[in-house]
Amino acid sequence: MLELQTPVQFVKGVGPGRARDLAAKNIHTVEDLLYTLPYRYEDRTRFCRVSDLQPGTKTSILVEVSTARLTATRKNRLKIFNLAARDKTGLIRCKWFHSEYLYQRKIFRRGQQVIFHGKFELDPYSAGSLQVINPEFEILDQAVPVQGSIDMGRIVPVYEAARGLGTRTLRRLIHTVLSELSGVPETLPMAVLERHDLMDRRAALQESHFPSAETRGEDLAARRTPALFRLIFEELFLLEVGVRWKRRLARKLRGMPFRIDPGLRRAAGKFLPFRPTRAQERVLDEMAEDMRQPTPMNRLLQGDVGCGKTVVALQAGAMAVENGAQVAFMAPTEILAEQHHLYARRLFATSGYRIGLLTGGLKRAERNRLLEELSHGRLQLLIGTHALLEPDVSFQRLGLAIIDEQHRFGVRQRFNLMKKGVHPHTLVMTATPIPRTLSMTLYGDLDVSVIDEMPPNRSPVKTHLLDDLKRSRAYRFVADQVRNGRQVYVLCPLIEESEKLDLRPARKIFEQLQGEIFPDFRVDLLHGRLKSAEKEAVMQRFAGGQSDILVSTTVIEVGMDVANATVMLIEHAERFGLAQLHQLRGRVGRGREPSYCLLMQGSRTIGPEASQRLNCLRETTDGFVIAEKDLEIRGPGEFFGTRQSGLPTLRVAHLLRDRRILETARREAACLVDNVESQTSLGQWAAGLSSGWQARYGLVGVG
Ligand code: ADP
Ligand code: MG
Repeated sequence: MLELQTPVQFVKGVGPGRARDLAAKNIHTVEDLLYTLPYRYEDRTRFCRVSDLQPGTKTSILVEVSTARLTATRKNRLKIFNLAARDKTGLIRCKWFHSEYLYQRKIFRRGQQVIFHGKFELDPYSAGSLQVINPEFEILDQAVPVQGSIDMGRIVPVYEAARGLGTRTLRRLIHTVLSELSGVPETLPMAVLERHDLMDRRAALQESHFPSAETRGEDLAARRTPALFRLIFEELFLLEVGVRWKRRLARKLRGMPFRIDPGLRRAAGKFLPFRPTRAQERVLDEMAEDMRQPTPMNRLLQGDVGCGKTVVALQAGAMAVENGAQVAFMAPTEILAEQHHLYARRLFATSGYRIGLLTGGLKRAERNRLLEELSHGRLQLLIGTHALLEPDVSFQRLGLAIIDEQHRFGVRQRFNLMKKGVHPHTLVMTATPIPRTLSMTLYGDLDVSVIDEMPPNRSPVKTHLLDDLKRSRAYRFVADQVRNGRQVYVLCPLIEESEKLDLRPARKIFEQLQGEIFPDFRVDLLHGRLKSAEKEAVMQRFAGGQSDILVSTTVIEVGMDVANATVMLIEHAERFGLAQLHQLRGRVGRGREPSYCLLMQGSRTIGPEASQRLNCLRETTDGFVIAEKDLEIRGPGEFFGTRQSGLPTLRVAHLLRDRRILETARREAACLVDNVESQTSLGQWAAGLSSGWQARYGLVGVG
């Protein structure tokens, strides 16, 4: 009999080699194996006949191999593995390009019965017949009868294959495990199971791998069968209990309550060279209220690019300093840290605060002096990059830790900065707005404030999509702007020339712009490989109006703030992600003059995703709409870099697809964790989870 915690090497059919392959996929126990769910299902009770295939649709067919051989294209001798196969109604061709042919050549033989899955298209070289490129396939055993087979005559699970682990192997192993499994302990509280009418865990696992015949294909594809629903709910519920639990623990800490009276609150506003927006005022009030409390502030400040988060953070900094505490302000890049440093110095010019800048590029002697002042409490505000996290950086009395562009850092870095003090107040900021449901999960231990208003006198940036044919028009427009005293960014994806990708590299563009197109204007080049002093000089020239056009790679993506810049021209816009494009566009539109974003489409044909991105950007400047769209196109995994976020990787659920379930799961989790009367039940319930799961969802020591 197998238990969930049994190591996989005790499963029949798993030797040391296979155990290693499984471990490489993070499958160590029987439980891990069972939570490796199919990524799709195939109804093999009947197949589409070759004569019924519709060009352009994805489907599966069962055919017999007639020929299989290596060929080469006439033009550039590109090797192709060509396979012809047929059923009673017709013939199809399968093709594999690149190095894959080596493997295909070894395994395919005439007469084999094979299931191919892929998108069948008209063959451009053979009128009327169909081909499929790089299809998924499964070679069937000759002798096995369909009756009782786990591969045929039923709805069959298809797994993500990995090196040495085909989908058939996984199917066998999981089938074995399911039939030899002893008891499966329940993970959800009884009341929750009943309230939501959830399927029993064991049955859910069985049905999720081997759905019974009457299961509907649409429900499987949408992951909405009762079995899959239960597993998704389970995962999200545990995730939410973990998040909620961490939050509870954070609420028990004792920090450094500040005295913030109305006088100080007013004084913090006196530094500003402008009137704060209502949203900025509100957010500062929220933070002031937090910092008065004995429990440390733990706040996320969200707000679109350019809404003015930095000032608010620095005002909170002033409140900390007036309370005799030190402030750490961490930014993801040197340029940004430098910019914040300059900004803070200007803002606090008359305050007498001592402000330092710590980056990786600092000279040893200077660094030592800075750290000395810091540890003796003579330095009040230290701004820097992740260099702040180095072990010899120690504060005398760190009272407020600020992290800018939080999504660029991991949770670990946040905690490491916090550890430089005794439960300091913490403020993290991000310009990547996240739908509320998700931010509550992702930043579950944080309270969220939002700046939803732009400073006055900003006009929305007009965005145009242009191709190479319109390039000269774009340049004429740039020239007009410069003649009117404005400045222009030209953004490029890469620095050096690369043969493979037909990109216009920054250096080449710079030379061309300065040499041929705008010989009379002052053009500058900024990229990541410049020394930081050079970078600084280039930035200063642009910020000070001593250069007209700044050709740059994405090093300027975050935080650059030059109000006189009115044009952002982005080369190869199709190569950037949506959030990044939005960030880049946010570099303009910061002054009174109307601003423009010119998206240059680099190649004539771009993929459907890229064109979705560019159109979305053209249609809206609302960061929230853009973030939602980004999420939709890319999926949450990539969007958040889940590992960065500190959440466990989800095996079953999908934060976006399943957000309704997430909502319900969160309500149930809150009910379990927050309800004081249910504390014993929380403890009892958590104790019933396996230690692996307790660790996975951060529930160690609950109850
Ligand atoms: P972000 O939220 O993107 O970090 P910043 O803090 O860099 O935005 O602010 C963008 C620009 O707007 C800065 O030049 C800042 O001085 C200016 N700014 C911020 N708040 C206001 C305001 N209330 N009125 C006018 N300008 C403001
Ligand atoms: Mg900023």
